[in-house]
Amino acid sequence: MSGGLLRWPGVELLTEPRGRGMTKQVLFAGADVDVRYFELEPGGWTPLEHHGHTHRVMVLRGRGACLVEDTVRPLAPQDLVFVPSWAWHQFRAAADAPLGFLCIVPAERDAGLAPGPADLVRLRAIPAVADFLSS
Ligand code: MN
Repeated sequence: MSGGLLRWPGVELLTEPRGRGMTKQVLFAGADVDVRYFELEPGGWTPLEHHGHTHRVMVLRGRGACLVEDTVRPLAPQDLVFVPSWAWHQFRAAADAPLGFLCIVPAERDAGLAPGPADLVRLRAIPAVADFLSS
């Protein structure tokens, strides 16, 4: 995968301070769903969070991995990920590649909540999740 960040004419490039090396571009908004394109720099990640709304994700470029509840899976272009309501989730780019993905959410949605100490203990008790969170 070569080339820079995917961009769309007229779409503002937003930084996401809750993540690391994370940008957001809102491609569609104002109707029933919002369609966003997120891109993580190599080594970047989205915040670990959960919320009542769902995510429908399609990877467009790069390489990385995601956590959805208690499952970690590698990610490559065209992969589809559904994040159910209240599932803990995080997306991480590979150390040597970016990760760019579309994420579709309901236009009306709740805010993400970060895990508390007890949630982190429970998540880290799963070896693959512990490895993912420390990667
Ligand atoms: Mn989320």
